[in-house]
Amino acid sequence: MTSTFNTLEFAPPRTIGSFHPPRRILMGPGPSEIHPRVLAASSAPSMGYLDPVFVGMMDEIKQLIRYAYQTRNQLSFPLSGPGSVGMESSFVNMVEPGDRVVVMRNGVFGGRMVENVERAGGEAIVVDDPWGSPCDPEKLRDALRANSGVTTVAFVHAETSTGTLSDAQAISAIAHEHGALVICDAVTSLAGVPLLVDAWGIDAVYSGSQKCLSCVPGLSPVSYSDAVIDRVRQRKDRARVQSWFMDLNLVLEYWGETARTYHHTAPINSLFALHESLVMLQEEGLERSWARHRLHHEAFKAGIEAMGLEFLVAPQHRLPQMNAVKVPESFAPGVEAQLRKRLLADYSMEIGAGLGPLAGRIWRFGLMGWSCSRANVMSCLGALTCELPEYGMPVKMGAAEQAALDVYNRAASASPSI
Ligand SMILES: *Cc1c(COP(=O)(O)O)cnc(C)c1O
Repeated sequence: MTSTFNTLEFAPPRTIGSFHPPRRILMGPGPSEIHPRVLAASSAPSMGYLDPVFVGMMDEIKQLIRYAYQTRNQLSFPLSGPGSVGMESSFVNMVEPGDRVVVMRNGVFGGRMVENVERAGGEAIVVDDPWGSPCDPEKLRDALRANSGVTTVAFVHAETSTGTLSDAQAISAIAHEHGALVICDAVTSLAGVPLLVDAWGIDAVYSGSQKCLSCVPGLSPVSYSDAVIDRVRQRKDRARVQSWFMDLNLVLEYWGETARTYHHTAPINSLFALHESLVMLQEEGLERSWARHRLHHEAFKAGIEAMGLEFLVAPQHRLPQMNAVKVPESFAPGVEAQLRKRLLADYSMEIGAGLGPLAGRIWRFGLMGWSCSRANVMSCLGALTCELPEYGMPVKMGAAEQAALDVYNRAASASPSI
């Protein structure tokens, strides 16, 4: 009898072998580079998701997430999925059919929030601000006066598509004055800029592992207040959460405080990695992490401006970890994409493009987590100095590096410990 294996269809080409990724400098909107300690943690032997040793580590992750978010919320844990799962989980659990939800939109991710509200059967009341400007708390006040019965207010703290920071504290305070719960997207903000979940009264917050936490992609640390849990518990019989996977009533059976029963197979090795990245955040300290992002942004900004390039966002609303820089007007359409391709091919450096109305108009330089370093700032400024003249923009050799170096030297003499 001949083996059937040779006769099966869809055989892949014999040329396919093991995959060896090139080493990249990741300076886009995420993922960021992963620290060797985090990579090493993820390569440890796997184990069962109900193993008592693993469960002990889960409890540590929850404590570390509470620190990162600065919250006492018991329900602080990583969802199995990227930041988009954190977003979707917040909306499917907190929005019931017919609910009125104010979404503040000033970029791509606010737009996705609107989609989430509508798919959950809610009515989205959209408060728009221009891309590159922060969400305006006064417009929220007006929207809540004009619309009664709003149950939830949602906004993006750090809009990655434009590099803009919004005032999470002011927005949350206004939402609470009107009795609404707050959903805050902190995917890019967590660990990069100050975020005080309890002090600012944020009810539901989600992030992603691959931005300023510099962990492997695919996990979404979330934190939900008791008010959120009450809301989700109350809807159990009335209007079941339409997503089985994301229904917090069920997820709690694995990640909650008491029972530990099977819900889905946790991404064990990714959780090893998250534990290590959160331990590293604790070692560095949140405030020092914020200060490091600020310092390298200042140096990068000095270099960018010394080259004659300009930022999209006004200085007081800029994200240090996400730098949106205008493509020079002299660039013909398509030329900015050539520069990005050149940086990838010749410098192994990834930077981000503009999205939506900003496509072709900005570059996005990420300085997130482990990618946020002096080495990367200097490499990037050096690469731009070498390449911009190729595309018709004259740049003085060394000017950008000198400007960045001045920032570093000033910072070192002011505070030698950073
Ligand atoms: C990256 C990002 C997301 C989505 O996260 P994924 O991990 O890509 O699913 C959501 N919101 C913001 C602000 C982001 O930057």
